[in-house]
Amino acid sequence: MLPNNQKKIALISVHGDPAIDIGEEEAGGQNVYVRKVGQALARLGWQVDMFTRRSSQEQAAIVEHSPNCRTIRLVAGAKKFIKRQEIFQHLPEFVTAFLEFQAQQETVYLLIHSNYWLSAWVGMELKKRQSSKLLHTYHSLGAVKYKAVKNIPQISKTRLEIEKQCLETADTIVATSPQEQEDMRSLLSPQGNIAVISCGTDIERFGSVSRLESRAKLDIEPEAQVVLYVGRFDRRKGIETLVRAVGCNQVKQHPNLKLIIVGGSAPGKKDGKERERIENIVRELELEAITTFAGRIEHADLTYYYAAADVCVVPSHYEPFGLVAIEAMACRTPVIASDVGGLKFTVVNELTGLLVTPQDEQAFAEAINHVLSYPAWSRQLEKDARKRVESMFSWDGVAKQLEQQYLAELNQIQPELLESKI
Ligand code: UDP
Repeated sequence: MLPNNQKKIALISVHGDPAIDIGEEEAGGQNVYVRKVGQALARLGWQVDMFTRRSSQEQAAIVEHSPNCRTIRLVAGAKKFIKRQEIFQHLPEFVTAFLEFQAQQETVYLLIHSNYWLSAWVGMELKKRQSSKLLHTYHSLGAVKYKAVKNIPQISKTRLEIEKQCLETADTIVATSPQEQEDMRSLLSPQGNIAVISCGTDIERFGSVSRLESRAKLDIEPEAQVVLYVGRFDRRKGIETLVRAVGCNQVKQHPNLKLIIVGGSAPGKKDGKERERIENIVRELELEAITTFAGRIEHADLTYYYAAADVCVVPSHYEPFGLVAIEAMACRTPVIASDVGGLKFTVVNELTGLLVTPQDEQAFAEAINHVLSYPAWSRQLEKDARKRVESMFSWDGVAKQLEQQYLAELNQIQPELLESKI
């Protein structure tokens, strides 16, 4: 066992700042993953530094989350929001800033865990320059994503190459579901070492309040039938499918029906277009009276929304993991999800919810109708959903599995090097 002063790690998340507000524009599951993994590792005695890109002048360069866990914002490109597709050209600057930071601190991070392909490039560059062990989590695979989108961005070729190279050269790839591992093998490369360690959720907070309490807090009548969506406004998220499903007669006929859509930024931001499009569909289907756009909700307060709902719908076209599904399940809310990616692993069909063909509004309508029509069955789904999350998806459990992987990597580093670099 390593002494605590050697348990040090750099988590790199160039575009997903672990210290910013989650749920708007490009901030979603990756930001939550990095922050929660970082905090849980710190509770296990690790010194955790999470590196991201500084995206505004006003942002603090360093944010302390707890004594052992901080976010460090490096300057790479202008200190303003830069779209993901345009960040690649600034990565050499990020690498330089990282090396300068190490030099200032008189340290070398022997363990680097990168997140998303942009950070994979940074991790691979650092690995060329120092004897660090590199672990990587993809969060989304270009090879899968580009199958589902119409307009493939120019940067896609570079992304696909880097993703393949990373699988073949990183010390370990952390896949967050068996489906993701299969995708890597079939679409990227037969080479490379993959460990499956899922994402997690805060099982103490999510699941701490009852349905009635939550409804009282949110001003929702006890007899309402609440269908919930939580997530970013992005076409890939399939909000349109959900809205159209709610517009189908078999769902619309339920008395006291309520559709709550959570997420999205302030007006004028990039995701505003998708929100406007969804609002137009709501109007077109005459669902305004039963639909609420709640906007972005603090991550910790989402527990009230999940708990208040009869069903949470995750209608993504594609979802590498899908934190929202396990958050809802932790709050004892059945989940109806697209039968894709990580959702196939987290949601067990007919045990914790229902899995449905993506983009099939009729199938979603039938599933929603089913859950709303059989409350006794639904209560059983709620119990099993909570059980599954407790046994498989707590952040502390995830951090313990990651720790084992990190320690195995550190064991392969020569002891002298370990001694000299702490
Ligand atoms: N989220 C939030 N507030 C919101 C909307 C979303 O905190 O208003 C969080 C949500 O709880 C989840 C994350 O954003 O933890 C979204 O992660 P997911 O993996 O479901 O999707 P992604 O955004 O990564 O595509």
